[in-house]
Amino acid sequence: MADLKVVVAGAGGRMGVANIRAVAGLKGVALHGAVARLHAAVDRPGSAAIGQDAGLFAGIEALGIAITDDIDAALVGADAIIDFTAPAVSVALARKAAAQGLVHVIGTTGCSAEQDEEIAAAARAGARIVKSGNFSMGMVVLANLVEKAAAALADYDIEILEMHHNQKVDAPSGTALLLGEAAAKGRDIVLQDHSVRVRDGHTGPRQPGTIGFATLRGGNVIGDHMVILAGQSERIELTHRAQDRTIYANGAARAALWAAAQPAGLYSMVDVLGL
Ligand code: NAD
Repeated sequence: MADLKVVVAGAGGRMGVANIRAVAGLKGVALHGAVARLHAAVDRPGSAAIGQDAGLFAGIEALGIAITDDIDAALVGADAIIDFTAPAVSVALARKAAAQGLVHVIGTTGCSAEQDEEIAAAARAGARIVKSGNFSMGMVVLANLVEKAAAALADYDIEILEMHHNQKVDAPSGTALLLGEAAAKGRDIVLQDHSVRVRDGHTGPRQPGTIGFATLRGGNVIGDHMVILAGQSERIELTHRAQDRTIYANGAARAALWAAAQPAGLYSMVDVLGL
């Protein structure tokens, strides 16, 4: 049975600790023909997490792996990176994944179009990348429902509302954009040409056919998303509420194990789940 040696990048972050717990918890569990094992944990130079035992830092048993700021040393002998960090970091890691033919699971959100193109180029150059704005199973299903509802209710107004904790740095969330893409796919339109990201002041009436976004920030909300389809006499509200980050971490670990058996390329959670 092949052992998948996983490096968790952003190990000191909210998702980093969830990813350490998920990979450590998979020890001995075979998925997609492989067994995951934590190989290294990395954070940025100066992070309070550097030097700490990854397991203890993540609130589980000691794993004997100190969190490091030396990414190149961490990648020696590694098979996969699970990366929930920041866009520029994910682009740099994708290049390293391409050079070494690694699996690279990217949960980082807020990438620009140029950064997404650099990640796609890394996948063409040899990396096995799974990138998703949301790694939970429930969200894959919700996106599927949104696509169908948007197609069936072609003249209903679509609005996407999201709320996250007060430390989130990008807006709208990667998940809100993923749901917007699903709605746009159902309508056979390009999201970028039809999305309304902000409304302020005298905006005039709503433009038919647009997909609106609204962003709320506060407290420690892990991630709430609602897609509203509003018609003349009825309104449909499709909602997902994350209650624990393990839903993302388990999905990311599963994606890493799945990608280990795939050729180089850029994949999504829809591919991982075979939907
Ligand atoms: P966070 O700020 O708690 O964690 C990010 C971590 O990355 C920090 O510890 C930071 O020090 C570290 N980091 C920064 N530069 C680095 C570098 N050069 N090398 C290694 N580590 C570095 O943020 P978070 O809440 O954990 O979220 C991280 C990202 O994941 C965000 O983009 C967020 O939107 C996204 N996210 C995605 C999903 C999903 O399912 N796709 C779910 C939750 C969060």
